[in-house]
Amino acid sequence: MYMISPVTQRGITRTRSQAGTRERGMKKAYVSRICLGFLIPFALFACTQPSGNQTLSGGDRPLVVATSTILDDLAAQLAGEEIQLTGILEPGADPHIYEPVPQDSKALEEADLILYNGYNLEPGLIKMINAVGGRARKVAVGEVVQPLQLEQYGETVPDPHVWGNVKNVMLIVNAMRDTLIELSPEDREEFTQNAAQLTGELEKLDTWITQQIQTIPVSKRKLITTHDAFQYYANAYGLEVSGTLIGISTEEQPSAKTLQQLVQAVKDTGVPAIFAETTINPQLIKTVAAEAGVKLSPQELYSDSIGAPGSEGDSYVNMMVANTRAIVEALGGKYQPFELAQKDDRGGGVGRGYK
Ligand SMILES: [Zn+2]
Repeated sequence: MYMISPVTQRGITRTRSQAGTRERGMKKAYVSRICLGFLIPFALFACTQPSGNQTLSGGDRPLVVATSTILDDLAAQLAGEEIQLTGILEPGADPHIYEPVPQDSKALEEADLILYNGYNLEPGLIKMINAVGGRARKVAVGEVVQPLQLEQYGETVPDPHVWGNVKNVMLIVNAMRDTLIELSPEDREEFTQNAAQLTGELEKLDTWITQQIQTIPVSKRKLITTHDAFQYYANAYGLEVSGTLIGISTEEQPSAKTLQQLVQAVKDTGVPAIFAETTINPQLIKTVAAEAGVKLSPQELYSDSIGAPGSEGDSYVNMMVANTRAIVEALGGKYQPFELAQKDDRGGGVGRGYK
């Protein structure tokens, strides 16, 4: 793959602003999904307003803060309503360039447990987490994974996008389960059961992704994306990352030379399509596709965030399914829907529907 020229300017890739913290338990998230389903602006507005009344039994529950939307989703699935969960990043927000707001500091100060990715995925938040007082235990759950090492600005650094390999997420789930049990020992049984169920789903997902990628002709198993977030995915499932517009952080702005090199790489590899990402402005990767004369996949990849409630990638599992579908369809494979062998019987409705 191409090494990237140094940073010249911050913030070019930001496409969405963040609205600060977002509190949710399973019940509240489910309510929001229902509201979104109606797509009535007034109802949406009414349903997404923070409301103290929603934290019905919040009094004694431990306060847990998760930084990324992926960790927030996993924590919600593991802990259900036994914790009061605050996810800092909004779906679609970019963790690399997120600048914390005062509400984030308050949430971190009040927390009993802070779950963050680490390996510098969310530098603004990590700085705040390290600085904040309070009583919280701070756990970099992404760092339970042995990282891939990549080059950034001439230095070798760990690649933070560990969730690209589903097996890594099984390790993260185990670490989160153990941390939650230490936080709230009386809920051991529920956390253990939820972790076992989630791990079962992740095992099926892992096998399914492998099978799907194998349907792509060998010569086309090449990924070209906006930023370098798919090394774990590519390594795990038999693809090659043949080029990216920018490196493992999204802070940088690609030079005209980088753009031209990527256009050439697209032509040289002969891929039929390249990919935009949901957390990054697609304009430059569109230009690359146009100049190289290839298709831009109509489905953007979920790189560093799950999708908004009700979207195709609205949970970790759903985002991996959506990404795999987009990649298989764009690169000439044959996609088979992901189906779990048994129906979910836990209720709750968060992240349970697979498309
Ligand atoms: Zn990233």
